[in-house]
Amino acid sequence: MQLYNSLTHKKEKFIPHEQGKTSIYTCGPTVYHYAHIGNLRTYIMEDILEKYLRFTGLEVTRVMNITDVGHLTSDGDTGDDKMLKGAKREHKTVMEIAQFYTDAFFSDCKKLNIKTPDVVVPATSYIDEFIRVIQVLIDKGYAYEAGGNIYFDTSKLEKYYVFNDFREEDLAVGVREGVEEDSNKRNKADFVLWFTKSKFDSQELKWESPWGVGYPGWHIECSCISMKNLGEYLDIHCGGIDNAFPHHTNEIAQSEAYLGHEWCNYWFHVHHLNTNSGKMSKSKGEFLTISLLEEKGYNPVVYRYFCLQSHYRKSLVFDWDNLNNAVTSYNKIIEKTALLLNDTSGDIDSTEYNRLMKNFTDALDNDLNTSLAITALYDVLKSGTNSVTKIALIKEFDKVLGLDIIENAVKVNQGEEIPAEVLELVEERKSARKEKNFALADEIRNKITALGYEVRETRQGVEIRKI
Ligand code: AMP
Ligand code: ZN
Repeated sequence: MQLYNSLTHKKEKFIPHEQGKTSIYTCGPTVYHYAHIGNLRTYIMEDILEKYLRFTGLEVTRVMNITDVGHLTSDGDTGDDKMLKGAKREHKTVMEIAQFYTDAFFSDCKKLNIKTPDVVVPATSYIDEFIRVIQVLIDKGYAYEAGGNIYFDTSKLEKYYVFNDFREEDLAVGVREGVEEDSNKRNKADFVLWFTKSKFDSQELKWESPWGVGYPGWHIECSCISMKNLGEYLDIHCGGIDNAFPHHTNEIAQSEAYLGHEWCNYWFHVHHLNTNSGKMSKSKGEFLTISLLEEKGYNPVVYRYFCLQSHYRKSLVFDWDNLNNAVTSYNKIIEKTALLLNDTSGDIDSTEYNRLMKNFTDALDNDLNTSLAITALYDVLKSGTNSVTKIALIKEFDKVLGLDIIENAVKVNQGEEIPAEVLELVEERKSARKEKNFALADEIRNKITALGYEVRETRQGVEIRKI
C-alpha cells in the first residue's frame, strides 16, 4: 500500500516495523463538548485506514487517548483550559463533563460504524506516567523549570519543525486563537510539559508532582500513552491536519528526546471539513453534530458515505445540497443491492470477482483513495456478472467501507412484506401528524410498535422496519 507521509511529504510504500503487524496511534477527542461532524470526518477516515490495513491481513493494534485535561483554548499553551470552560458552561464538574462527552463521542462513533480503538486511555488515568517521562526529559537536559512550569527546550533539538508543508489556513486554528506570550519560555517554540502557574489556580484537576501541584500539558499525554501501549517504534500516527503543528511536532520532539531514536515512521493527517462560512470549530459553539443530522432525518451512515466520496487529503466543504446528493446516491446503492439479494442462483465467478476486487484494492492501495473505492463499488453494481458474485464483493468491500449496505438492502426487501394493517396505521399516523394531532400520532405509533414494527420520519419519507 502507498500512503502519503506528512513527514517526508510524499507517498511511500507502507512497511510496518514488525512483519504482519502494525501499530496505530490516534489523537482522541477533547471531551468538553460534542464532537462536530468535522472531527468525525477525521475519525471516519482513520477508521477506513485501520479497517483497510486489517483487510490486507495485518494484525492492527490501535490506541487512542481521551483528552480530559491539559488542552488549552490555544494549542500554543495559552488561553483557558478547555475542560474548565465546558464545566463552567454547564455548571458541572470537569469529570462529569468528561464522562458525558466521552460517552457522547463513542455513541456518535457507533452510529457512524467507527470501530472503538483496541485501547482507549483517558489522560487523567496516566498522570504518574507523564511525571515519569517529564522527569527523564529534565534529567536528559531536554526540559527546564521556569516560573513554576516545566518546559520542553526546543533549542536542544537538531530539527524542531519537522512538518513544513502546511498551508497557513490549516494551521491558523490552534496557533492564532491566543496571542499572549509566555515570558518564562527560553525559546519561542518551547512548550509546557507540566503546568503549575498561578493563572490556573482555578483548575479543578490537580496532582502532586516533583515540581509542585499542577497538571500535564496536552502534548505529553499522547507521547506517553502511545509509547506505553505501542512501544518505542510506532508505525502510524493519525490526526486532523490542525494537529500537525504544534501538537504532533511537540509529540515528536518529546518522544524522540526521551527514546533517543526516531519514533514514528508514518504521519497520516486528515484535512478539514469546512462550511461555506469557514472551518467548523467547537470553541465557536456553533457546529453541526451527528444528532443534529439525525434530527433532520439523515441516517448517520449517509454522512460516512458523504466523507468517503472525497479524498482525505483534500479539504471538504459541507453543505446540505451535497449531503442530499449523497443520500440519493447512497439510496441507489441500497436499492440496487436489494434487487441482487433476491437472486441467489449460480456460483461466484472467480475471474470477475478478482477483477472487481482488484479495482477496489488498487484504489485503497493508492493512498486510501476512497472516492475511487466507491467507484469500484458502482462498477460491481453495473457489471455483467451474476448477483451472487456481486453480493460477495459488496460484503467484502463493506468490511472496509462500513456503509451497512447489505443490512439496509435487507430492510428494503423486508419493507415489501409489511402487513397491510401496519401500512394502514402508518397512513393514519401521517394524517394525524399533518393535522398536528400529535397525541393521536403517538397513540398510533404505540399500536404499530405493538404489531412489532418501528416507524421513523426520515428525509426520504417514513421508514418502517421490523423491531
Ligand atoms: P479535538 O476534539 O478538538 O481534540 O479534535 C479531535 C480531532 O478532530 C483532531 O484529530 C482534530 O485534528 C480533528 N479536527 C478538528 N477540527 C476539524 C475539522 N474541521 N475537520 C476535520 N477534523 C478536525
Ligand atoms: Zn495527540
